[in-house]
Amino acid sequence: MIADNIHQIEAALERFPQTVRLVAVTKTKPVAMLQEAYDAGSRIFGENKVQEMTDKYPQLPQDIQWHLIGHLQSNKVKYIAPFVSLIHSVDSLKLLQEINKQAAKHNRVIDCLLQIHIAEEETKFGLSAEEARDLLHSADVQPLTNIRLVGLMGMATNTDDEIQIRKEFRGLKQLFDQLGQFRSDNVAFAELSMGMSGDYLIAAEEGSTLVRVGSAIFGNRSYT
Ligand SMILES: *Cc1c(COP(=O)(O)O)cnc(C)c1O
Repeated sequence: MIADNIHQIEAALERFPQTVRLVAVTKTKPVAMLQEAYDAGSRIFGENKVQEMTDKYPQLPQDIQWHLIGHLQSNKVKYIAPFVSLIHSVDSLKLLQEINKQAAKHNRVIDCLLQIHIAEEETKFGLSAEEARDLLHSADVQPLTNIRLVGLMGMATNTDDEIQIRKEFRGLKQLFDQLGQFRSDNVAFAELSMGMSGDYLIAAEEGSTLVRVGSAIFGNRSYT
């Protein structure tokens, strides 16, 4: 079941001109199900809570890349800094500075995405296009040698309106292309994280390189 779902999604993603990698979103799912996904070939797992990710990490094979996809509080960065592979949800300079500090303690460089607010829904998470641009060009980012800003992440409005969703993804891709022209020692855009179970094909059509898919692999969650 899980294996079939993964193979179907991966086959669909193969059709796109760009490489689109599947992040299996494993939040709320038991370790046995993660192992099943691993056995089916998944190597990138996305969790939205620090505690859950640090609980699961030691129970599973070491070649898994762990992606933090949910809101991250500065005081929790230290728990994931030893092993996290990509943080999708950076939305402030303060958080970026803390990630840099904790990464340095482990002699690591942690890849990060800036989370952009593209949906119509009100939420306190995510940067505006202007805020992202300012952050990227900020003199305060330059000295952070233990982080790398490698792209953007966004979540479309929770709606059945495909035109609306496509418009939001297209806007994010445009911003990605614009901001991606800026490069420095710790800024090198390569990843655009957009698309979930309901809209990952639209996202891939609009240029996504990472889709974050949970329920289409593991079934519905009782909570999120
Ligand atoms: C839960 C979650 C997903 C996956 O959602 P599905 O609809 O189950 O695929 C993707 N991205 C983020 C940020 C999430 O929190």
